[in-house]
Amino acid sequence: AAKAAADATTENKELIGLTVRKEEDFPVWYQQVLTRTEMMDYYDISGCYIIRPWAYKIWKSIQRFFGDAIEESGVDDCYFPMFVSEKALNREKDHVEGFSPEVAWVTKAGQSDLAEPIAVRPTSETVMYPYYASWIRSHRDLPLRLNQWCNVVRWEFKHPQPFLRTREFLWQEGHTAFATKEEADAEVREILELYRRVYEELLAVPVVPGVKSEKEKFAGGLYTTTVEGFIPTTGRAIQGATSHCLGQNFSKMFEILIENEAKERVNVWQNSWGLTTRTIGVMVMIHGDDKGLVLPPRVASIQAVVIPVGITAKTTQEERKALAAKADELVKILHKGGIRAKSDTRDNYTPGWKYNHWELKGVPVRLEIGPKDLANNSTRAVVRHNGTSQNISLATLVPDLTTLLDTIQSSMFAKAKQQRDAQTVRLETWDKFVESLNNKCLVLAPWCERVVCEDAVKENSARPDPANTEEVDDKAPSMGAKTLCIPFTQPEDGVKPGVTKCFACEEKAKSYTLWGRSY
Ligand code: AMP
Repeated sequence: AAKAAADATTENKELIGLTVRKEEDFPVWYQQVLTRTEMMDYYDISGCYIIRPWAYKIWKSIQRFFGDAIEESGVDDCYFPMFVSEKALNREKDHVEGFSPEVAWVTKAGQSDLAEPIAVRPTSETVMYPYYASWIRSHRDLPLRLNQWCNVVRWEFKHPQPFLRTREFLWQEGHTAFATKEEADAEVREILELYRRVYEELLAVPVVPGVKSEKEKFAGGLYTTTVEGFIPTTGRAIQGATSHCLGQNFSKMFEILIENEAKERVNVWQNSWGLTTRTIGVMVMIHGDDKGLVLPPRVASIQAVVIPVGITAKTTQEERKALAAKADELVKILHKGGIRAKSDTRDNYTPGWKYNHWELKGVPVRLEIGPKDLANNSTRAVVRHNGTSQNISLATLVPDLTTLLDTIQSSMFAKAKQQRDAQTVRLETWDKFVESLNNKCLVLAPWCERVVCEDAVKENSARPDPANTEEVDDKAPSMGAKTLCIPFTQPEDGVKPGVTKCFACEEKAKSYTLWGRSY
C-alpha cells in the first residue's frame, strides 16, 4: 500500500501540467506541450496559430544566429511586398504549377471586386525577380545577395500541425544572383551548412544534409539541397530547411541578363533558400518529455531559474528575505557572466509548484538555494533533460554553470543522434523495407534515382501492416515512403558503379538514398 501511495504521488507529480504521456498519445502530448507552456495558441482560422513569446524568443535566437552569419557572408536584408500580381506569378511555368493549388488570392476590397485578383506570396521568386531584372545590368552588379524575414501563405490541404505545417508561417528567404554556376553552387552549400548548424548546434537536433530527388526538388529549380530531421516517436522524417540552386530557369523567364567579358548577353545563375518556424516544432517533438518542454541551453531565453527552497513554518521573515535577496544577487552575477537567468521568488507558490512550472517550460537548469546552501556558500543545480543534480560552489558559479550548460547542449544532441541512428537501417533489397518503416525507421538503400521508381516505392509502401498496432499517429501506417535526400556523406562501402542494384527495381543504383515516411 505504501508503494502504491508512493507511485501515486510520483504519478501525480509527473502529470501536473501534462495529462498524457509522449509515447501514449503523441498528437495530444504535442498540443499540450505547446499550449500549456504558452508557446502557441489556436486561432479561429484553421491552419493558423498564434506564436506566443515563449516560442517567439526561440525564433529570435535563430534569427540572431542565422542573420549574423549571412550578414557576415555579405547578404543584405530587405523587404518586398506580400502581394504578387497574377501576371508575375505565372511567369515561370513549373514554379506556378507547383504552387498554384496553395495560393491564397485577394479578390475584394471592401464591397467591390478588384479589377485583377492579387495573390499573397507563397514564396517570393516571382515578387522579386522582375526587379532583379532591372537592377542587374552588368557583372559589376553581381553578386546580388538579398534576404528578407517575413511571412508567407501556403493554403495547404495536408493536415495542419502547429509550427510544422501551417498556412501562414514565418521564415527568411534568401534570393541571390551570380555570374557563374560555380559561385551559385558554392553558396547553396554554404547556406545549407548554416541550416545544419541551426539545427545541430542551436536546437540540438541531428539532421542529414543531402540533395533532393527530381520528384522532390523545388518547383522550377535546378536542384534542391536539404537538411532532413527525424521524429523518433512517430518514426517520421521532416524536411528541415532547403537551399535551392535555381539554375538559369528563372533568369530566363524574368530576363535577368548581364554582359559577360566576351560582350555577350548571358543569363545569371540564381539561388533561393529558406528556413521557417517549423524549426521550433521539430525541436519540441524531439526533446520534449512527459514533464513538458525541454529546451537546449543555446536557444533557451532563461537558461537557469533560481528558486529559494527549504522554507518551513519556522523560517523567519528575515531568513526568507535573505534567501530571496541571495537569489536575486545570483541572477545578477549570472547575467554579468553571460548566462540568461531569472529568479522565482514569488511567495504565493511553493517550491514544488515552481519546480513543476519551470520543468514544464523546459528551462535547462534549476538552481536551488536554501538556508543550508547559504551556509555552505553553494547551490544545488538540477538538470532538466536528465534529472541529475550537483552542488556548485557560489565561488565558481559562472564558470561551472557555463560548463554545465555546454555539457547539457552536447548531451541533448548526442542523445537525439543516438536515437535517430538506432532508428536508421541500411537495406540492400526490398524485403524488409515496409517492415522497417512500420518499425518507425528510416531506410538507407541503393537507388536508381528514377522518378518512376520513386512513384512505385511510394505506392508499394503505402499498404498498412495489420500486424503493426503500435503506430501513434493513425495516418502514418498507410502513408507511402518517399525519398528524403541523397546524403552528401555516402557510406564508405557505397555504390559500386555498374554492380550495385537499386533496392526497389533492380536497375543500376546511382547512390545510397535515405527513405522514410514523412511529415
Ligand atoms: P520551400 O520554399 O518550399 O523550399 O520551403 C522552405 C522550407 O519551408 C522547407 O524546407 C520546409 O522546411 C519549410 N516549410 C514548407 N512548408 C511549410 C509550412 N506549411 N509550414 C512551415 N514550414 C514549412
